[in-house]
Amino acid sequence: MKRRTFLGSAALAAAGNLMAGEARSDEQAGGTPAVGRIEEKPRSIPVVQDCDVCVLGGSCTGVFAAVRAAQTGARVAIVEKQNAFGGVATSSLVNIWHKLYSNDGKQQIIGGLTGQVIERLERIQAVTSHGDGKRHFTLNTEELKIELDRLVVENGIRPYLHTFYAAPQIEGDRVTAVFIENKNGRQAIRAKVFVDATGDGDLAKDAGIPFEIRSGLQPPTTCAEISGLPDTILKLIEEHREEFGLARDHGWGSLVPSSDGVRMCAYTHVFNTDASDANQLTAAEIEGRRQIRAYMDIARKFGGSDNEPCLVDLPSYIGVRETRSFTADYKLTEADVLSCKRFPDAIANGTYHIDVHNPTTGRFEFKEPKGDFYQIPLSTMVTHKAPNLVLAGRMISTDRGAFGGVRVMVNLNQVGEAAGVAASLAGSRAEPVFQVDAESVRKGLANLGAIVI
Ligand SMILES: Cc1cc2nc3c(=O)[nH]c(=O)nc-3n(C[C@H](O)[C@H](O)[C@H](O)COP(=O)(O)OP(=O)(O)OC[C@H]3O[C@@H](n4cnc5c(N)ncnc54)[C@H](O)[C@@H]3O)c2cc1C
Repeated sequence: MKRRTFLGSAALAAAGNLMAGEARSDEQAGGTPAVGRIEEKPRSIPVVQDCDVCVLGGSCTGVFAAVRAAQTGARVAIVEKQNAFGGVATSSLVNIWHKLYSNDGKQQIIGGLTGQVIERLERIQAVTSHGDGKRHFTLNTEELKIELDRLVVENGIRPYLHTFYAAPQIEGDRVTAVFIENKNGRQAIRAKVFVDATGDGDLAKDAGIPFEIRSGLQPPTTCAEISGLPDTILKLIEEHREEFGLARDHGWGSLVPSSDGVRMCAYTHVFNTDASDANQLTAAEIEGRRQIRAYMDIARKFGGSDNEPCLVDLPSYIGVRETRSFTADYKLTEADVLSCKRFPDAIANGTYHIDVHNPTTGRFEFKEPKGDFYQIPLSTMVTHKAPNLVLAGRMISTDRGAFGGVRVMVNLNQVGEAAGVAASLAGSRAEPVFQVDAESVRKGLANLGAIVI
């Protein structure tokens, strides 16, 4: 794939959402040339909420941002296009959270809402802790959905489910409102500060923040929950893949806690996909499900008479690893992660190694950090180009290698919490988010029970 870099222009931002939409090239709109154009009549849009912080995207990153903003006194809205919160962790069935301890196992480096959610799930046997929390956790993703609902409700956040962020209203370099679409039609939410937790950075793109779509994107995977699979399933797939139309690939799976042998299967990849392109995303959804049918057929044919494979669940959407990567005030590098560099504006700590899924073979290419843990600075989430926008999630400013480590959920959960505190502070102080001092954010996080180092 050709490396593409898109630079936002101040002029485009200044003209607001209409120009941003018009300026979108056919390539950006999906690689398919338009068959014509029609003019949309200007219409008056109801503003359904005025708030301090509006979070777009309701993965754990987004929910944790909303919770922390609410807990620091902000009036908060959260907009999610699916019917439930959790993003990849729920709607795409991905059920592993990595360890909360440093590599030497001596120091707890992650707590906060990640720790609280794990404790809440432990009470209902919806999480399995491997190695006493020092290796990883497997979660029941459906119970996680309910826990996230509870967090949103308990913290007085106004939720919008089944609601798509569509476009921004921009004045100067500020996002003043976002247009959303749901069963009630097109509406607007006004906020002092916006947190983009859409994974793809949909608002950041529309606001003109520079981004790139790297060559060799990590390919997406359609996961599935399946019972009755033979233990040898990965070997069987490798032996019979050609007959069933599967490429050479590399996958993994894990048991769903407290289930009767139901496995979460991430056995294949949909190669050559940029999931931020609607047409490629559509094709990938269909191909991902075809792959699952193919390995179910392998299991049925070669799995032996003791096994009765049953497809228990498919995800609401394909698991997307990587799309747009934005440039914020600091770009975290592979060298920062591998050397476990410390940052004065650190808001998250992580140990997950650099893990890049090869774009053509699916192989996991690992590099191990040389130290106890690395850090993610606040400056990867804010930019002088956008005074009231915070990036939270896999789109934060990283190079390819750093992204391979940062992208896991225990890291991004902390990024979400920091985004919420930073957004809330910027709103209450009426100052740009890039000017909010990191010490205040770190203090705010620590006061709320997060581990800040
Ligand atoms: C197959 C697979 C396996 C993985 N395995 C692991 C693992 O074992 N452990 C781990 O920790 N990490 C794993 N990862 C990585 C990790 O899951 C993701 O990097 C992480 O979940 C990304 O979080 P996010 O909040 O940035 O985005 P997402 O989880 O993608 O959340 C984005 C949210 O925004 C919503 N949204 C998007 N656009 C809009 C819009 N326009 N309007 C409204 N809502 C919108 C989405 O519906 C979604 O809820 C895996 C990823 C994949 C794909």
